Amino acid sequence: MTYQSPISPGYSWYEATAGERPDYPALDGDRTCDVAIIGGGFTGLSAATYLAQAGVNVVLIEQAKFGDGASGRNGGQMGTGQRAWAEEQEEELGLERAKALFAIAEDAKRNMHDFAAEHGIDIGYCPGQLSVIHKKRYRDDYRRHAAVMAEKFDYPHISYMDREETAQRVGSSFFHGGIRDTGTGHIHPMKLVIGTAKAAAAAGAQIFENSKATGLKQANGKATVTTERGTITADRVLLAVNAYGNGGLEPVSAAHVMPIRSFIGATVPLPADLDAKVIPGGESIDDSRFVVRYFRKYGDGRLLFGGREAYTADNPREISTHIRKQIAEIYPELADIGIDYAWGGSVGITMPRTPFVREVMPGVTAAGGFSGHGVMLSHFTGRLYAEAVTGKTDRLQYYRDLKVPAFPGGRSFRKPMLTLALTWFAMLDRI
Ligand SMILES: Cc1cc2nc3c(=O)[nH]c(=O)nc-3n(C[C@H](O)[C@H](O)[C@H](O)COP(=O)(O)OP(=O)(O)OC[C@H]3O[C@@H](n4cnc5c(N)ncnc54)[C@H](O)[C@@H]3O)c2cc1C
Repeated sequence: MTYQSPISPGYSWYEATAGERPDYPALDGDRTCDVAIIGGGFTGLSAATYLAQAGVNVVLIEQAKFGDGASGRNGGQMGTGQRAWAEEQEEELGLERAKALFAIAEDAKRNMHDFAAEHGIDIGYCPGQLSVIHKKRYRDDYRRHAAVMAEKFDYPHISYMDREETAQRVGSSFFHGGIRDTGTGHIHPMKLVIGTAKAAAAAGAQIFENSKATGLKQANGKATVTTERGTITADRVLLAVNAYGNGGLEPVSAAHVMPIRSFIGATVPLPADLDAKVIPGGESIDDSRFVVRYFRKYGDGRLLFGGREAYTADNPREISTHIRKQIAEIYPELADIGIDYAWGGSVGITMPRTPFVREVMPGVTAAGGFSGHGVMLSHFTGRLYAEAVTGKTDRLQYYRDLKVPAFPGGRSFRKPMLTLALTWFAMLDRI
């Protein structure tokens, strides 16, 4: 008989294990500030912290609870570099810019540890990342990637794994090989959200939950953000709504950042014999599919498996059934494993899968579209935005300079066209 989870669908294992998750008030009344931030995920909360620490008067609003967007529901994998491999970026942007973008990502990684240490946040860091190959013909690319990273990008932490080593480290002979990255790892994302919100409030940022921005206007050098019960008038606005903006506030970012639903299932704790076999080194894993699968053994020995993607807003009725099927392809012995928690979230993707950072109205900067690679990058982008506002550095310019075209098809056809394209890529992944 199929395992029946006692936990309601949609409630994540992260919520269950994050510890105390404080409530923050809703915005009530009118405020004036230097910077208004819309969106309480990693990008917005981190920007609020760094701005407030620099003495900037900042007000942040979140439509739900902090972390209810992608930031509290993701795979927790930090990864290395940007979403695209550094050598691909070199081909497109030249070595100097590719190196600068790689350096930003390495700083983002260091910054995450420093931030957690500074603010006493237990982010549940576990070291190690495996990227594994589901098609034989990718092996040379992965082998070359390990060499290029060491030789050209001074990153010596990636090694190529042959089929045997991969099987031993994954605990399954499903993959043809892979790379092992000892210079990165994975975290408990909700703990980082909660800790960053506390840090922002402690630094003096005014932060509000259950306060949806319903309007954004610009006049006479000031922006006004409207909510149901108040307004914020600010010199600048950071629009950090990522995949959860629907274009209602301004149309440009929604044309460039598209939501894709991705789902994660957390199994029951693995029985001792399987616990010893499945990912014995404790790394997080992603695979070489275009529609990527990502998994890790975490916490109390559960397998957290993410993969099924959908292009509609609703959760499919039976997330666990789909996830269990994908788990069983890799670990046939887990074909009947119980899945206690199953939840989904919206990943913000862009056409080239590089972040979208742009001034979309005078004084209004949108930042999002980290394309499944935002755990460390979005948090750090919040810092880069704060540094740009305070005139400390303008490394945000590297993101602003990236060419990110709008999705074709206009408002009505964008989504069906994307669905078609991604369904096509998902099919290619399978054959
Ligand atoms: C299932 C899943 C798995 C993922 N796995 C990984 C991974 O393993 N590694 C990785 O690097 N990345 C991963 N990602 C991506 C990563 O989580 C995101 O890139 C990152 O969290 C983006 O942070 P953000 O603050 O920009 O956006 P979000 O966290 O999405 O925050 C945007 C916030 O804006 C709020 N908002 C929207 N509109 C309004 C409004 N009108 N008024 C007020 N508030 C508003 C939303 O409620 C939301 O909380 C994953 C994402 C998902 C969904």
